[in-house]
Amino acid sequence: MKNYYKNYVDGNWIDGGSGVIPVDNPANGEHLADQACADFNDIDKAVKAAKRVHKEGLLTAMRPVERGRMVKKMGEFLLQNAPLISKELTLEAGKPLWESEIEIRGAARYFEYYGNQAETIEGKSIPLGENYYDFTAYEPYGVSAQIIPWNFPFEMTSRSLSAGLTTGNSCVVKTAENDPLTQYWFAKAAEYAGFPDGSVNLLCGLGKEAGVALSSHPEVNQIVFTGSVATGSAIAGEAAKNIVPCTLELGGKSAAIVYDDADLDNLLNSLRWGIFYNAGQVCSAMSRIIVPRKLQEEISERAGELAKSLSVGPGSERKEFGNNMGSLISELQRDRALALCQKAQSAGASTVTGGHKLNRPGWFLEPTIFNNVTPDMEIAQTEVFGPVLSIIPYDTDEQALDIANGTDYGLVSGVFTKDLDRAMVSAQKMRAGQVFINEWFAGGVETPFGGYGKSGYGREKGREALWNYIQTKNIAIRLGKGAAGRA
Ligand code: NAP
Ligand code: MG
Repeated sequence: MKNYYKNYVDGNWIDGGSGVIPVDNPANGEHLADQACADFNDIDKAVKAAKRVHKEGLLTAMRPVERGRMVKKMGEFLLQNAPLISKELTLEAGKPLWESEIEIRGAARYFEYYGNQAETIEGKSIPLGENYYDFTAYEPYGVSAQIIPWNFPFEMTSRSLSAGLTTGNSCVVKTAENDPLTQYWFAKAAEYAGFPDGSVNLLCGLGKEAGVALSSHPEVNQIVFTGSVATGSAIAGEAAKNIVPCTLELGGKSAAIVYDDADLDNLLNSLRWGIFYNAGQVCSAMSRIIVPRKLQEEISERAGELAKSLSVGPGSERKEFGNNMGSLISELQRDRALALCQKAQSAGASTVTGGHKLNRPGWFLEPTIFNNVTPDMEIAQTEVFGPVLSIIPYDTDEQALDIANGTDYGLVSGVFTKDLDRAMVSAQKMRAGQVFINEWFAGGVETPFGGYGKSGYGREKGREALWNYIQTKNIAIRLGKGAAGRA
């Protein structure tokens, strides 16, 4: 790795107006490298470059298939370099190497998926009688501002950048201060694919400085944000002032309802991924399971065994696919998660296993299972963003649904049962943007993702997300002579 990473603006690598941000390896707390820290002027330069690209029509003049091929080329470039990128991502984000590899492959997949769709965005014609010909066309907003979280930095940038470029927007990306280093690969990928300078701009800076500068910039035309509710609300406020649309993908406290006929082996497999993948730093984490009282002991015992079977340590040592888990992203996040665990214990939750930090350098938290959690406890309502599962017992199906729907969030939800009726009735009643039946995280790049309630609005992923980046223009043509025959 290099020891200093610059920001990428209008095809140039630039220093940061606000100096540097030191980036640490969360698995040992050691300093990894410095990252240029953008200030207001750097953001302004990037937005102006993106605006210029849009005004000159550099992306919109192209035939969509050409743009699509370039987007796909970016993904191919990332795949070619996946071994290297994964190593760097593991060092800055603390996740196991095999998790980083999954993330890079997932990132590349976005460029493939959206690149493939560039030429499928078509308007329609609207009949207005013989005196008119009317049709619609979709046009990009112009400058797309994308504010990225640290939990899946590579995948999240890919998600919005691929869709933004496919639809002909020029993009300004504000990367997360905790793990911004691998983002330079997107600049290399854009250059490899032949995107004009200014189409892709990547800057790291502090949320309260660079993030605010970007989200409030009057020349930004559209905003995409993934992160916390508080920051999402602030960004939506800035978007409202400038009358620009924004898509918010915020947190969750997602629940799986386990019915008494569920296949418990399958449930346990979903749990391994649902709450321990990325050390639980997943907005759609399976952070609550709602279980029938008669299965409560069996499920909590088996969940405890699963948690204890995980080996926890630095991501770079965790090469093999499987039963291991990395660190949390920072001391701040680890201590926040730890404090939530301690409060759960004082509130009366029973600790099946975990709840402590690891006695070694780095920001590790034990895989943690709490049993006898009640819906009113903080641990049942607040997003931990760590490897912490709450088991909540229920007596009736109706109660289970009430508990599942009983938070401010509504990102995803799940049902485990062999009974199709029960599964479908629950799916209809769950207030969440995605419902998983018998497999947590079922779905893919193709399926629309986003929340109900405080989990945000708008959808990322899938074809639906393309509509975040385009606006409709209706063109009405008066044919022949004479006054319009207005109804
Ligand atoms: P955050 O503040 O929402 O950060 C997300 C992104 O927004 C980062 O790039 C951040 O910059 C930027 N940002 C922060 N304040 C901003 C502002 N006022 N205007 C514009 N941009 C701003 O999240 P966090 O503080 O890192 O994490 C806190 C909690 O958020 C976590 O514990 C978790 O519950 C939740 N979270 C959710 C997701 C998700 O996927 N839904 C992802 C991350 C975090 P900096 O990097 O400089 O902070
Ligand atoms: Mg922050």
